[in-house]
Amino acid sequence: LAITVNQMLDRIQTLVNGIKEMSDNIAHDLKSPITRIRGMSEVTLTTGASLNDYENTAASTIEECDRLLDMINTMLFISKTEAGVGQLDRKEMDIGAVVRDACDLFQSATEEKKLKIVCHADSSSKIYGDMRLIQRMIANLLDNAIKYTPPDGVVDISVQADSDQQVEVIVKDTGIGISKEDLPHVFERFHRCDPSRSQSGTGLGLSFARTVARAHNGDITTKSTPGKGSKFTVTLPGIVY
Ligand code: ADP
Repeated sequence: LAITVNQMLDRIQTLVNGIKEMSDNIAHDLKSPITRIRGMSEVTLTTGASLNDYENTAASTIEECDRLLDMINTMLFISKTEAGVGQLDRKEMDIGAVVRDACDLFQSATEEKKLKIVCHADSSSKIYGDMRLIQRMIANLLDNAIKYTPPDGVVDISVQADSDQQVEVIVKDTGIGISKEDLPHVFERFHRCDPSRSQSGTGLGLSFARTVARAHNGDITTKSTPGKGSKFTVTLPGIVY
């Protein structure tokens, strides 16, 4: 009984630490966009001369607010799903088709950055998943691969079914890679590795991806070599007929 109570207390302590860390991060990450919105509005109010100035400020405010709302919704989704109270809308779906659609969608972004995107998802692999969440998880991984790969690199995405009826979605890139120190932390909420601070992002993309994979009884792992590239592997239970 003493061991069980101690384990429970340890778990509560970890959760309390997690909540504290998260609120510190939320405060930090929400503060900068709110300060930016306030600053922009103040400058327009005091120096804005034309209707055009006011229109530009309103447009930028909407953009910043959308970013904030998106971040808050993602944080809520992660917390709710991790606490086991999130609802998934799971149906039979073809993950090969989702990956092919995602490649088409990201084609222009890769071309813009002078990257090559390679897609190996010819066959159909069925899973029982929440389409919207799976699409967003794959989009996050592709978005990162493109964001963290310098021009002339390659982004490669593939779908494979292994012998245990597990489906793997693998996203590889030839980008900047992740250091040994950062690697164990990349799936934590708000963790951003130093070299990427200059890139846009919230530090929630991989945390969201892991939450989605685990909510589908799967997982996500990564391997990376700084300066050479990264590989993210999502494993999901396939449908057995
Ligand atoms: P972000 O919005 O910052 O991209 P993520 O949660 O998606 O947040 O990723 C967390 C951090 O992991 C990123 O800030 C980046 O430093 C690192 N990272 C993620 N994907 C890659 C990748 N493909 N190559 C290199 N670093 C990556």
